Amino acid sequence: MSEDAKGTRETVAEAAEELVRHLVWLEAAGVREVPPGKPKCPPAQLAARAARAQEAAGGAVAVPPPGPSIARAERQPSGPVSAPTAARVAAAPRLAGGATPAPAARPSAAKGCGSEALVAVRREIGECARCKLAGGRTNLVFGVGNPRAELVFVGEGPGEDEDLSGEPFVGRAGQLLTKMIEAMGYRREEVYIANVVKCRPPGNRNPEPDEIAACEPFLRAQLAAIGPKVIVALGKFAAHTLLRETTPISKLRGRWREYAGVKLMPTFHPAYLLRSPEEKRKAWEDLQATMRELGRPVPGR
Ligand code: SF4
Repeated sequence: MSEDAKGTRETVAEAAEELVRHLVWLEAAGVREVPPGKPKCPPAQLAARAARAQEAAGGAVAVPPPGPSIARAERQPSGPVSAPTAARVAAAPRLAGGATPAPAARPSAAKGCGSEALVAVRREIGECARCKLAGGRTNLVFGVGNPRAELVFVGEGPGEDEDLSGEPFVGRAGQLLTKMIEAMGYRREEVYIANVVKCRPPGNRNPEPDEIAACEPFLRAQLAAIGPKVIVALGKFAAHTLLRETTPISKLRGRWREYAGVKLMPTFHPAYLLRSPEEKRKAWEDLQATMRELGRPVPGR
């Protein structure tokens, strides 16, 4: 066989393998028929369906690629959901799509993984080195909270306290965020909290575009797995990243926007509120609007 023919044969074989992997993934998502033309179901929605299908089967799913919308997961009654142990995370089967399973997760890696869909996202991240922030982290800070929360808070990235503990928003700003959540009538464990990037930028600098690009698909996958009704973007960085614009947060805040099909309320970051307490009233107005959107009683109305 000539070299050209051999190369063509290998290319066709690789394409066939890729097609088989894709079909297996679609099957896991519950797709039984593939119509001609563009798929009507967004990739993230397929991923969420795959997550649910695989959750029922005790398997794992691939992280959805970035896309125009995230799926609204079928809502389950909120309440305590047992967090998987690190052993369960480590023992989970191969990822869909043939990806290599991540190394065994450390105990802190199980934080924020209260559903099989979130475990799958965490497994996909693995001991991530997809951007240069990997080198400086103590812990990868995945997220924390109710895996089926109706309300998700998104911050910028871990600081020193979060890097050491492996949990987002645990320092002074985190304590203020917890107070804000409680003022809304929630317990911290009833909502979900995550960041745009999962590893601490050195010296608490802003994450850089290539770091955001590498990490944002995981945030998108977390949101698809949770299926919140509302996202609150904390601070200019989270808002700018999620909304793909650079309007000052003072102008963005208080106005409903949308991220991947989910209502998004930009507001001030708790760290900024610690420095500028006179702005707390505006942040509280934003949270009150969020409570109204979620049908929660608003104190003082
Ligand atoms: S910030 Fe995100 S993409 Fe970068 S190493 Fe950490 S988990 Fe990976």
